[in-house]
Amino acid sequence: MNPQVDFSQDTKNAVAKKAGVRCSNPTCRKLTTGPDIKSSRITTVGVGAPITAMAAGGPRFNAKLSPEERQSPQNCIWLCQNCARLISSNIQYSAEIFQAWKTHAETPLTSDLQQENATDVEISYETIALQPNKHDYRLFVKLRNLGAGTLGPYTVDLEMPARVMERPDQNALYVPARSNATTSVFYISNEQLIAQLKEEITPGNTKVAITITYFVTAEIYRSRGNLFSQPVKATFSRQGFQPVVVEKKLTDFQEF
Ligand SMILES: [Zn+2]
Repeated sequence: MNPQVDFSQDTKNAVAKKAGVRCSNPTCRKLTTGPDIKSSRITTVGVGAPITAMAAGGPRFNAKLSPEERQSPQNCIWLCQNCARLISSNIQYSAEIFQAWKTHAETPLTSDLQQENATDVEISYETIALQPNKHDYRLFVKLRNLGAGTLGPYTVDLEMPARVMERPDQNALYVPARSNATTSVFYISNEQLIAQLKEEITPGNTKVAITITYFVTAEIYRSRGNLFSQPVKATFSRQGFQPVVVEKKLTDFQEF
């Protein structure tokens, strides 16, 4: 392909958006944006690839098309970098196959089919203080908007195992079905927390949705049983979208 001839940025943006900012290969559908940590801008890892080559001699070149048609959004398929290699090198794939991928990727989701969330939910912790007999920690549930649009009203629910010394069942947030004699699971939602945590998240940005402080004493550590291998479960929901559920054992993300 002649490197001088390419789709305009507007064309690429429009095609990427129509494909949901995901690779159009139906067996891939990888998100093609991610935050650039250094600049806090969105980094595009997608490629607007030509279905039929821009120049004679290129893969699937169609001599019947005008130069305008070759550079039109109809001839542009949005792919991740891996799949774009297929289209630029593998001439065994016909233009019809790529056209079918494009049509499938750009078909609007019907109202009864829930859309997939472009949200990454991360559970992590930090150490607040380490004393010989008591370690204080803080747990975070962070949300990262991987999509192209602003992340609107949402809720985050968290279930967390804990050890409670007295009458855990008296707590309104207690989850009886997941609790036993030594481990009490509590339910925490960001709806119960302060309003600013429900702020919108712009594309590529990360926000902390929930923070919980907790501690481990020497006594709890000694009698921990399977407390730390119980999963912490965070569920991100917003209307019309599939919820994102992340389940991690405490020991999967925390060193004790
Ligand atoms: Zn792909």
